Amino acid sequence: MSEPEELYKPAYQDRELGDDLMSKLNSSDVITGMTRGGIAWTPAFVVALNEATCIGCGRCYKVCPRDVFELVEREMDEELDLDDEYDDGFSDDTSMVMRLVNPMDCIGCEACARVCPKNCHTHESQPVAA
Ligand code: SF4
Ligand code: SF4
Repeated sequence: MSEPEELYKPAYQDRELGDDLMSKLNSSDVITGMTRGGIAWTPAFVVALNEATCIGCGRCYKVCPRDVFELVEREMDEELDLDDEYDDGFSDDTSMVMRLVNPMDCIGCEACARVCPKNCHTHESQPVAA
């Protein structure tokens, strides 16, 4: 019978399992992660931000653990009709807009998408070979 510690050993600590997984990868595989408990998950990396719908609230900036975003002045001249129906203390300054500045630092957690009231973010998994 295995010791309890052996039973719960994360897969990333198991060299044989890691080598086995690597040998099964091919160019169509996407980048995957693993929970502490050894469950695989697929990160969805941010690939685009729709500045036309962004209200500059800063929610995504605050939750991102990787400094992927930056709040910048909006360059568009046209009138924007961007109401934020959420009254939760975040300022909605439509003269500002969020921009992707370090998209290659994204870890694919999707926290930004969960807090955005305007569904501005687009996420995709990424092939291992990309
Ligand atoms: S998915 Fe996570 S790491 Fe990537 S930009 Fe959004 S909050 Fe940041
Ligand atoms: S959470 Fe959405 S609306 Fe708010 S700044 Fe980020 S992208 Fe713009």
